[in-house]
Amino acid sequence: MENRLSTLSYNEFVLLLEKDEIREVHLAGNNVTLHDIYDRQFKTYTPDPDGLADRLLAKSVKVYGASDHSDRIWNLLTIAIPVLLIMIVWFMMNRRNTQTESSADFAKSRAVMSGQADRIITFRDVAGIPEARDELLEIVDFLQKPKKYSRLGAIIPKGVLFLGPPGTGKTLLAKAIAGEAGVPFFSINGSDFVEKFVGVGASRVRDLFREAKKNSPCIVFIDEIDAVGGHRAGAGSAGGQEERGQTLNALLVEMDGFGSHEKVIVIAATNRPDILDPALLRPGRFDRIITILPPDVKGRRAILDVHTRNIKLAPDVNLDDLARVTPGFTGAELASLVNEAALIAGRTEKDVIDQDDLDMAKDRILMGIERKGLVIDEQDKRSMACHEAGHAIVAWILPDTDPLHKISIIPRGKAMGSTQQQPIQDRYAYTDHYLRHRLAIIMGGRAAEEVLLGQISTGAEGDLAQAVELATNMVCKWGMSEKVGPLAYFKANQGFLGGPTAQNNFSEETARLIDSEVRSLVEEGYRCARAILDKERRFLDQLTESLLEAETIDRQEMQIIHDCTQREQHESQGACENRPHHQPTGVEP
Ligand code: ADP
Ligand code: MG
Ligand code: ZN
Repeated sequence: MENRLSTLSYNEFVLLLEKDEIREVHLAGNNVTLHDIYDRQFKTYTPDPDGLADRLLAKSVKVYGASDHSDRIWNLLTIAIPVLLIMIVWFMMNRRNTQTESSADFAKSRAVMSGQADRIITFRDVAGIPEARDELLEIVDFLQKPKKYSRLGAIIPKGVLFLGPPGTGKTLLAKAIAGEAGVPFFSINGSDFVEKFVGVGASRVRDLFREAKKNSPCIVFIDEIDAVGGHRAGAGSAGGQEERGQTLNALLVEMDGFGSHEKVIVIAATNRPDILDPALLRPGRFDRIITILPPDVKGRRAILDVHTRNIKLAPDVNLDDLARVTPGFTGAELASLVNEAALIAGRTEKDVIDQDDLDMAKDRILMGIERKGLVIDEQDKRSMACHEAGHAIVAWILPDTDPLHKISIIPRGKAMGSTQQQPIQDRYAYTDHYLRHRLAIIMGGRAAEEVLLGQISTGAEGDLAQAVELATNMVCKWGMSEKVGPLAYFKANQGFLGGPTAQNNFSEETARLIDSEVRSLVEEGYRCARAILDKERRFLDQLTESLLEAETIDRQEMQIIHDCTQREQHESQGACENRPHHQPTGVEP
């Protein structure tokens, strides 16, 4: 009620006092409530409570002193409530982020620097990614002994991008690098950058890099970078768009802005390389790309080893078998398989996990995954193995091709299997010789299915499209057909000129000629592949079996299989009439 009194300024109050119009005064700290001689009530504040009492007494005004407790509480509340509100808002905005951070500044990066308290993850905890590991050892070495490299003027990669499906251990690997190198690890999730408020994400990025540079050498890990780095198409509202763009730009600016002397390595991970903004992949940014695929049999076995390290297994458990029957399982799925088995065993109060527990856990996870094509039945697997072996053998036998890198029948995205040849990106000019061989390699998959299984499957669909495209380019673009001649033709439906508006620049007759030339190129490739595979039937058999067994085969292993089958052939056919008619050019180990 007091608060509804009208307030006087201190001057007015003093004036009243001078005019002797004040009857009584209640003092409570700085608060003054007064009754004047007309019995009106006012309040005011005094800057000088101690001196005031004397003056009042001198004027013989009645003075009541009171504790100012209630007012203090009120004052406190007026400050505390807004502060509390701010804290609540801040808390809610941070709730998504489970980890704590020291700064209360909203725009600060949410990067979490892993502390000593965390268990240190090392390469011992990561299994089944041998290729990635070797490359990453180099980065660890750089972080540990930067001088060794800078002395030579070497430029160390700033950005490394991990591509791979969820659960393949990308996050784990990034942590392991930091653990191995013993450097601070700043991790942030791409979606943390993207806020409703434009500009916040960008300032977080700057903040993150400021912190990182302060703590270098260190690792900055941006998980799920597609949240920021996804290119424009297919994203949400316009505002989100702009925020994303700003954040991405800030990231690019920061990455361009620090030199290799800064010893900050940025690692990013995504399972959506398809939506990644190409700007991120330019040189000097994420120019090292490491693809991480679901593990093969050997990898799965190694991962099972890691996750059963601290678990008691019954003697009847056979991890080799378990690895064999879990094609397509990622590291995360294997980890949860083991955990699930432990839960099942625990429920029945067993002391150890036995094979039944593991089988039951496997089924449970399979049901959970429910991914079509994950569980490949034996028949499909065989035709995949045969198909890939076909590509590989043709590539192996034909000279002047790209060296073979790895064959795999592990499903990967839409493609079921893959035969990887060493990247051909350094080659700018292809000879027609090379391209004809390439066509044979592409057709090798289908040819192998026919040779070995006597039937063809839909697995060659992508191959056929690829072969036709290549052959069309050879005929129309590169003048490699004698009949059509050294002319460049634009086929309308191919959009060489960048769109469906492009017109055919040739006659019906030429079109027919082009089609027949394309056809004969593809057919020639097929015949070539078929001839090779008929001759190398034993090699094809062996490689198919080995693929079924191991799921992936690298160059060295292929060499061994090749040598074996050659030897067998010699022995069974006696004399050397069937000497290897070739040296596998371009595939020397
Ligand atoms: P991603 O980031 O690729 O989605 P994570 O790194 O988060 O996958 O993996 C989740 C969990 O799965 C890890 O914490 C680990 O327990 C297990 N895991 C995944 N890949 C591997 C691997 N290669 N070796 C050992 N454990 C793995
Ligand atoms: Mg992850
Ligand atoms: Zn194929």
